[in-house]
Amino acid sequence: MSHTRNRFVHINQRIKSAIEQSTHTIDNLVTLLAVSKRHPLEKIMTLYDLGQRDFGESYLQEALAKINANPHKDIIWHFIGPIQSNKTRDIASHFHWVHSVDRLKIARRLSAQYPNKRSQPLNICLQINISNEPQKSGFSLDEINTQLSEIIKLPNLAVRGLMAIPQASTNLQQQQLAFSQLRQLMQQLNTQFELNMDTLSMGMSNDLEAAIAEGATIVRIGTALFGAREDKTRYNSK
Ligand SMILES: *Cc1c(COP(=O)(O)O)cnc(C)c1O
Repeated sequence: MSHTRNRFVHINQRIKSAIEQSTHTIDNLVTLLAVSKRHPLEKIMTLYDLGQRDFGESYLQEALAKINANPHKDIIWHFIGPIQSNKTRDIASHFHWVHSVDRLKIARRLSAQYPNKRSQPLNICLQINISNEPQKSGFSLDEINTQLSEIIKLPNLAVRGLMAIPQASTNLQQQQLAFSQLRQLMQQLNTQFELNMDTLSMGMSNDLEAAIAEGATIVRIGTALFGAREDKTRYNSK
């Protein structure tokens, strides 16, 4: 219990001092997204009691169990994991944000399956394969340039910005380079397509300083907040 509290205080301090040193933050605002995948609902509740409202999940079945058991209606749920097309209906109806939209087909399905009783559109970020790694998901630069015009026409989606998981590096300059490429890509796309995308979802436990230096508006933090994740087999057997 107090572990989680200490980690929460520490992460918020890291974010605050990174904002103070950054020349690219907008209104000094960075949202902490607590990545609760492979952690039980009790840990989410502990952070909720400390004031945290944004939580990120990657595995749909695990996430739905927590969302349905959660008593607090003001939690903002973000889906950040890989998306199979047969999962879009559940994602569209249970989450407020989807950060991992990585192809046109997924965007189309999320829009088509979005429950029409909701007054706000579904917030999405387009995942970009910024380090151009063959095994990673995300739009390539060519794909985003040719497909964004289709995505922005979809009626139930608010295209809020870009997300990336750059190649892991312990070198601050190398980390910053990828994040700065994502920031510049969003500026270029905003100009080219006359958009107002305002969200850069970038930075995790090990590179949040580099991400905030380059203008992250949402950092996705798991391990540094919750400790090590439980492995899949152990998590699912509970
Ligand atoms: C798991 C995950 C995170 C959190 O990573 P940590 O290194 O534990 O902070 C962030 N983003 C995505 C997309 C993830 O899958």
